[in-house]
Formats: sequence, structure tokens, C-alpha cells
Amino acid sequence: MVITRRQALILCAAPAFAQVRPRVAITMDDVRWQQIPEIRRAEAEMRLLESLSTTRAFLFAIGKTVDNEDGRRILTSWSSAGHRIGNHTYDHVPLPGKTTPEEFEAGILRTDQVLRGYSGFRKWFRFPALKEGTTRVVRDRLREFLARHGYRNGAVTIDASDWYYDRRLLDRLEKNHTYDLTRYRQPYLDHIWDRARYYDQLSRDVLGRSVPHTLLIHYNLLNSLFLGDVLGMFRSKGWGIVEAEEAFSDTVFTRQPDTAPAGESLIWALAKETGRFEGRLRYPGEDDVYEKPVLDRLRL
Ligand SMILES: [Zn+2]
Repeated sequence: MVITRRQALILCAAPAFAQVRPRVAITMDDVRWQQIPEIRRAEAEMRLLESLSTTRAFLFAIGKTVDNEDGRRILTSWSSAGHRIGNHTYDHVPLPGKTTPEEFEAGILRTDQVLRGYSGFRKWFRFPALKEGTTRVVRDRLREFLARHGYRNGAVTIDASDWYYDRRLLDRLEKNHTYDLTRYRQPYLDHIWDRARYYDQLSRDVLGRSVPHTLLIHYNLLNSLFLGDVLGMFRSKGWGIVEAEEAFSDTVFTRQPDTAPAGESLIWALAKETGRFEGRLRYPGEDDVYEKPVLDRLRL
């Protein structure tokens, strides 16, 4: 059979095109339920689970915040709903900080004790603020420690600053109980979409493909209001929603980039490691300093 050049191009392009559609999984950190105003907690808890009813997320819990009755109830219901639970240290003091590697490791083991009874628990660890050590010595010590205890790094590919949007929203609410919180919806969606496009393009440029992404957001009031809209936005832009554990099974999550300070988004670190993308890599990758002018300008 003779095929034309055009047909050949279509045949070659078809499988590649099928892989182009980006996919994203939801990973949610901290579980600081205490920061949600008490009157809104129960509804927030319900709405977060409802928003995730069509997928399975990963919840990276701080030991201290869930080592109590409400925390236990939250982790039990998330486990029952099929979500996975990972370890996010006991007290969320990032490396480097007012913590030694010894204390940091002890906190991981303590949290392991807090979490191990839940059916959703899996041995995945997430570094607070995505900081994995400023030196190669500390970084490699932690990598060895995690491996020895059967843990893997629950790395983030799409980092963002939802926590800052949430803080601003809570400040507003504290000053004015009737503040129209829906004003945060579109700016928040724009922020997530902006970061998703940035990291996805970086993934294509560094790795030659769009990896199944893990989006970092937090268990907070902001997401109880708008997580459903975030998922809807990704779908409307043609992205697929993938279960977090499936995303983590991609080989990119076995990569251990040789960077120091270590951490940030995994895609950011892999780009940094090549030395070829300096102009596109700000440090830190995400922070409130980038978002404050945006929200100030919007008077939010
Ligand atoms: Zn955290």
C-alpha cells in the first residue's frame, strides 16, 4: 500500500497527539482545619470531599494538626472516600529552619505513628514548603532516610500559592463577616491556570513530554469554596483529571535532581539541573511576593 506524505504525517502524529492532553492530580497539604473559621468548618469539610467525589486525591497531613478528634474524623472520612493520606512532618518546620536533620527525621517517624492506622495511608512524604535541604549533604541524608523507611517523595509538579489567596480571604472575612468571597474565585482560577501552563510547558521543554501533574493546594477555606471550579476549569481547558496515586506511578517521580538548595517543583528542579533554563526559573518558584501585587491591584 502506498500512502501519501500527508497520510504519513497524520499516522505519525496520531499517537503523539493522544499523549499531548495534559493531566493533573490533586494533592492537598497540611489539613490545618483549625484555620477555617469554626462556623464554616463542617461545611468546608463536606464541600472539599464533594468537590473530589469524581477523583482520588492525596492528602499530606501535618501530624500535629490531625492528632486530635476532628483530625481523626477528617482522615477517616477521606480514607473511606478512597483518598490517600501521606506524611507531611509532625510540626511543619521546613528545612532549613529551626530544626536539625535529626529532629526533622524524628518528626517524620512520629507522624508515621499518627497516620499508619488509616486505610488510606501510603508511605509518601512531602517536604514542607518543598524545601529538601540547602546542602547536598542534608539532601542526600534525607533521601537515604526516606528510602530506608520505605518512603517516597510525594513531589509536586505544579506549585502555586493558594495558601496566600486563602490568607487574604481569611483576613477579609475577619474584618467583614459579610464580605463577598466569590470575588476571589476568578483571580484564584487565573493564578492556578497560569501556574499550570507554566509548569506544563516547562515539563515539555525539559522532559519532552507533559507528565501527569501533581498540583499542590491546601486543605483550606479557599479550596472548600472553589476546588470544584478549579477542576471544572481544567476540564474546560481540555485537561484530564487523574488520580493522585496513578500520577505518582509515573517514572518522573523516581527522579532525584542534583540541585542545591534542593526542592521546589520537581519540574523546576529538573530544569535547574540542566543549567539551560535559568531565565525561566525564579527562586523560590512560588511565593507570596509574586501574588501580593496581583491581589493588591485587584483590591482583594
Ligand atoms: Zn505544607
